[in-house]
Amino acid sequence: MTPIVTLVPVLEDNYSYILQSGDAVAIVDPGDANPIINKLNEMGITPTHILNTHHHGDHIQGNKALREKYNCVLIGPLHETKRIADMDITYGDQDFFNLGDDKVLVIETPGHTTGHICFYLPDSHILFSGDLLFALGCGRAFEGTAQDLFHSIAKIKDLPKQTRIYCGHEYTAANAVFALTVEPDNKALIARSEEIKKLHAAGTPTIPTTLEYEWQTNPFIRAKTADHFSKIRHLKDNF
Ligand code: ZN
Ligand code: FE
Repeated sequence: MTPIVTLVPVLEDNYSYILQSGDAVAIVDPGDANPIINKLNEMGITPTHILNTHHHGDHIQGNKALREKYNCVLIGPLHETKRIADMDITYGDQDFFNLGDDKVLVIETPGHTTGHICFYLPDSHILFSGDLLFALGCGRAFEGTAQDLFHSIAKIKDLPKQTRIYCGHEYTAANAVFALTVEPDNKALIARSEEIKKLHAAGTPTIPTTLEYEWQTNPFIRAKTADHFSKIRHLKDNF
């Protein structure tokens, strides 16, 4: 059975996700517990796991309340052990664990934070990219360099093209405006920007995206060298 991913908008522009696979129900990056609890009640399900991509508050603030209410297993990045409270299990690069009917591969992707990880479901081609990669954009290099981010993105950009990407924020409309300044003549990007404007105006999520779509339109994935990538990251920082 293909797992089901449900988007839960939390805080200003974050997404948490409810991932159902077999008997497992995992909450990815709970930035705020209440909207997630409401959604779980509506769906009539109980979470078994929490997955954290990195230690920022907007991705973990709901951990405590969810853990206390449901007694679920908190899984997070090995290299942020001291920065996320009460983790039950931590994983590092290329570790696998089972979640319901799926295997989950942990990919360490430092740059935004030192221990940031992505979760990839190889049987279902689903990637939770946290604040590493966004639709049409990428995260800021808060605890690393742009070079680190480039190498981290390189670790995920050759996953199968049909991979669906669930990222940590709805930044797509603003990212599109910037992306067009980098590649004003990119026809796929121009078409996508128009589509995003409509979705944004209607309040419809632009997530998930796919790796194929990002290869066509995301300047950070399309950058071939670390130097070029760093230049774009720097321009975006000052945009
Ligand atoms: Zn973050
Ligand atoms: Fe974030």
